[in-house]
Amino acid sequence: MTPVDKDIRRPQPPPLTQVLPAEPLLLMTAGPVPVPAEVARAGGMVINHVGDTMAMVVRHIREMSRYVFQTRDERIYGVSGPASAAMEMAVGNLLWPGRRVLVCQNGLFSSRFAEMAAGVGAEVTALDGPDGRPVCAGMVEAALRKGRFDAVTLVQGETSSGVLTGDLQQIVALARDHGALTIVDAVCTLSTMPLKKDEWGIDVVVTGSQKGLSSLPGVSLISFSPRAWEVIQGREGPRPHWCLDAARAERFWGEDAYHYTAPVPALLALHEALRLIIEETLPRRFNRHLHSSLALQAGVEAMGLELYAPAEYRLNSVLAIRVPGGVDDGVARKYMTDRFKVLIADSFGIPAVRIGQMGEQCRAPNLFRTLHALGVAFARQGVHLDPSAGMASMEAHLAEHAEDVL
Ligand SMILES: *Cc1c(COP(=O)(O)O)cnc(C)c1O
Repeated sequence: MTPVDKDIRRPQPPPLTQVLPAEPLLLMTAGPVPVPAEVARAGGMVINHVGDTMAMVVRHIREMSRYVFQTRDERIYGVSGPASAAMEMAVGNLLWPGRRVLVCQNGLFSSRFAEMAAGVGAEVTALDGPDGRPVCAGMVEAALRKGRFDAVTLVQGETSSGVLTGDLQQIVALARDHGALTIVDAVCTLSTMPLKKDEWGIDVVVTGSQKGLSSLPGVSLISFSPRAWEVIQGREGPRPHWCLDAARAERFWGEDAYHYTAPVPALLALHEALRLIIEETLPRRFNRHLHSSLALQAGVEAMGLELYAPAEYRLNSVLAIRVPGGVDDGVARKYMTDRFKVLIADSFGIPAVRIGQMGEQCRAPNLFRTLHALGVAFARQGVHLDPSAGMASMEAHLAEHAEDVL
């Protein structure tokens, strides 16, 4: 008997240094986003996943997360996995057969809650935002009058179209008045625009690490209100999840005990990402994102392109730009990566390209490089555009807000 199956060929891949491009692409997509050097360094270390040092790291992460979520809630945990895992923890622990959920959806991510809720057997009612717009408070109020719901889910920023749920606070208040818990996806928005979990009365907030927080992928965060926690504790019958069981997560996050092996490098990186956010302070970070976005918006429009979302629903964290007739956006994006080493995102189902504006993406050199590459790539396909006017307009806005965007 041979120790290995000789029909299974032994692969010979090249070392990673030969796979990765000599000059990395500037990631200006809707995540993952570039990370600060401190975050990258922290993400290159492994320490024991339990014990005194890790307990201290976890304590700091929770403390800093509470500031970033603007909450006093004790139940704030990391979740091993993508932001979708935190969404799934919210859904899987608060919804089950017989429970009813109202899902406010206007794109790929907000409608993910409906898929997840249906998956755990909850009764799902979906409200669809009209084309390019979010679900508004009036629509939610009408739905809450008609039926009884245990929970309402919504996204603060729908990354797939760059659309902000402008009525978030009103929707949360309405849900509360009708006795429904609220689950808010703040994946692309947290730390890029204001969200006050306690003051606004949100029950559950989820976020990822590789978007607004500008950390490495691999870990996400979730915060439960006491009201939501009561529901979790009062649940009878079997709980379908094990890794995503909130009560079990409490063991690691609250009691320094083993649940599963935590994604140590991602947690160390998150520690640094949160620390840098706190060092910058939230108000300054919001301003940096706001003015980076306004500068880019001004530049894109002055160039002769149109933005997808109406001005009042535009996110600071991702900007969707309509692809003009006659432009093949796949060709344009390829030209941007080949010639300028800048990567922007396409869109799911809408005729737009998207530029990420999260964390380290909102730095003046990145904005100039991206807008320039976009203008050149579109203009060379024969559409009438003025890239120079766009650059001048963006520069003027940045010059006016030189203190805000560094
Ligand atoms: C990216 C994103 C998600 C999903 O994040 P993953 O880490 O890919 O699971 C969910 N919601 C929003 C708003 C997002 O931008």
